[in-house]
Amino acid sequence: MLSSPAEAATSASALFAGAGPGMAWFVASVLASALVVVLVAWARAARRRALDEQARVAQARKLKQQVDLVLASSGDAYWELDVRSGNLRLQGIQSLAGPMAPADIAINAWRDPFVHPDDMARLRQHVERHANGDTEWFDSEHRIRDGDGGWRWVRARGRVVERDAAGALVRLAGTTRDVHALRAAEREARVAVEVFRNMNEAVSVVDPEFRFVAVNAAFERVTGWAASEALGQPSSVLDSSQHNAEFYQRIRGILAHAGHWSGEMWQRRKDGSEFLGWIELSEVTDANGLRTHFVAVVDDITQKKRAEQELRYLASYDTLTGLPNRSLLSERLSRAIIRARRQGSRVAVLFIDLDHFKEINDSLGHAAGDRMLKAAAARLQASVGPTDTVARLGGDEFTVVVEDLPDGAAALALARTILSGFATALEVDERHHVAITPSIGISLYPDHAMVPTDLLKYADTAMYQAKARGRNTVEVYNEAMDAEARRRATLLAALRRALAQDEFRLVFQPRLSLRNDRVVGVEALLRWRSAELGEIGPAQFIPLAEESGLILGIGEWVLREACRTLRGWHDEGMADLSCSINVSVLQLLRAPLADQVASILAETGVPPGRIELEVTETMVMQNAEQALAVLHDLRRVGVRVAIDDFGTGYSSLVYLKRLPIDTIKIDKEFIGDLTDDPDDKAITATVITMAHSLGLHVVAEGVETDAQLGYLRGQGCDEIQGYWLSPPLEPARALAFIRGRQGAPRAPATA
Ligand code: C2E
Ligand code: MG
Ligand code: MG
Repeated sequence: MLSSPAEAATSASALFAGAGPGMAWFVASVLASALVVVLVAWARAARRRALDEQARVAQARKLKQQVDLVLASSGDAYWELDVRSGNLRLQGIQSLAGPMAPADIAINAWRDPFVHPDDMARLRQHVERHANGDTEWFDSEHRIRDGDGGWRWVRARGRVVERDAAGALVRLAGTTRDVHALRAAEREARVAVEVFRNMNEAVSVVDPEFRFVAVNAAFERVTGWAASEALGQPSSVLDSSQHNAEFYQRIRGILAHAGHWSGEMWQRRKDGSEFLGWIELSEVTDANGLRTHFVAVVDDITQKKRAEQELRYLASYDTLTGLPNRSLLSERLSRAIIRARRQGSRVAVLFIDLDHFKEINDSLGHAAGDRMLKAAAARLQASVGPTDTVARLGGDEFTVVVEDLPDGAAALALARTILSGFATALEVDERHHVAITPSIGISLYPDHAMVPTDLLKYADTAMYQAKARGRNTVEVYNEAMDAEARRRATLLAALRRALAQDEFRLVFQPRLSLRNDRVVGVEALLRWRSAELGEIGPAQFIPLAEESGLILGIGEWVLREACRTLRGWHDEGMADLSCSINVSVLQLLRAPLADQVASILAETGVPPGRIELEVTETMVMQNAEQALAVLHDLRRVGVRVAIDDFGTGYSSLVYLKRLPIDTIKIDKEFIGDLTDDPDDKAITATVITMAHSLGLHVVAEGVETDAQLGYLRGQGCDEIQGYWLSPPLEPARALAFIRGRQGAPRAPATA
């Protein structure tokens, strides 16, 4: 190669340094010419070099432009990787990184965060395998950073372009292509296929002529058609006989027009059985929006429908009796009201509650109680018309809704039919027949209320009134009842406090023996003076105390207080006196009555034979089995038992004979009319005769006149009680009265 011209001159002068001046000039001039030649040659060479370089650069630029064009039109980028350093040059990267990215970039593939970290190991593996000659092409799919800081899937393909002397890989080069959209589409397609395959719903794809082109496993399962059998078949193989041809025609029409249809449809399986399906039919279009297929997704809802129906049943019907429940009742009542408004007719709501059901349930057990409710439901349904709604609201509460009534009297008549329907005992099982009575309250649309809730509320109020009137009866709602209901609530609140506040006391009504005209005993009668409400009669508070269960505590107090008073009188020399004590049905059935009585007798020191417990005949008759056991227990304790208010119920004397009782008290209702009413005369005479023949002691209650007394005496009645002799008296006055009376046989007292 040429060295610089200055260097050449210097070395020439050094060569000829020892020569003379003439010679020296010659040499110098030659050298100068040579230098010029050299200089020119050097300049030429330099210029040529520059030109070559220029041409090369132009050539390279042209090449690059061509490559850029190719890359841009193909969507590919060109890359070159120095495998050892990791230096990566990319050209035409815009197709990947977006138009804002620089056209060419140089980065370090191994260090810069360009390739997704999760893909790096795989990428290196591809490089290595290709370097080792395991693959003909380097081929890798991985993610690189895009212009927005996200990642894009690319596919890079390339080959070794340089190896070192030892054959080791130096450079790789190739192209990279954006496969992001492709990959997403592929993935979507894969997912779609998986979903199609694994869907629980039967899915089928049909062509525009409705022939199956694809079905999934669920389709095979649900329809019984194997895919191989179904493909190519018309979809009408699934048409069910439940729908006519027009139905399918109509659906195809909608589908052709709207591209979608959904709804319930019966479908036929291969074996001919049918199922109810929820069907979604949708069109499938190609990239140009042209319809190519329909997809049908069928969900077998036969089971679901059945479950739904069961749920609806459970939500609307009472499971024990099968009667509509409260919610269905309100629905029906609402509809009845709407109809009645249109037609100008009446709707009656009968609210029915079984009397003393709680006690029966407790004494017979819940299983028997349930059977009883079922029997009562059946009895109710038999008593009303087929179009009337009988519902159970819960517990022992029932409702009847009657439509198209001309007037309130018709509702009352129906209620009476129901009452007489309950006159015969209900069969609980082969061994048990239990008599139970209903109390019925009636409200009317539009007379009393316009909406279901009010009608129910008022019928309920009327029912309570029926209970208060002695049960087993009907009451039609009136406004005064609301006041009555409020009064009851106040009364009950006061009653709850009465025992603790010591507001009770006993009065005693003497009983006179007609055999020897002597007072043989008294009946203890409960009195209540409420601090807030004043004196309240037992006819008002006893039923309330029974309903609320308060009677249990009150009754025990009465037993103890009566025995204490009697014991006091015995101690004062009146040891012959006995005392009658009223017990209520709840005490008979709930409290261990015999034990309670025994322990109170022991506590007060009263001989058992001096106590007589009074139970009403209805109370005993309604709970015969249980009552019988308790009465036997009481007999064992040694106390006497009387049937109070005899004649007001429906028991027969013959039946009463089965009971361990001692006394019958003829109700004052019969005695009151005794002298005017020949029937009452006959009944009273018969009762006395029959009772005697059964060995029972007879007491007549409510004797007020000499005439009554005379008649009873004539019939051989054993004892009387009533205002003729004495009203109930405070203990001290009762004792004084008895003392005086024993001395002077015929002097009636005043209260
Ligand atoms: P009862 O056991 O039949 O009592 C007789 C009722 O007749 C008493 O009413 C008494 O005052 C009344 N009476 C007595 N003589 C005559 C008369 O000549 N004419 C008329 N018209 N009435 C007469 P009272 O005291 O108002 O008691 C009513 C009912 O309350 C009692 O009827 C009884 O069933 C119940 N009762 C009273 N005290 C108790 C009690 O301590 N426990 C229970 N469970 N019930 C009681
Ligand atoms: Mg009594
Ligand atoms: Mg009585």
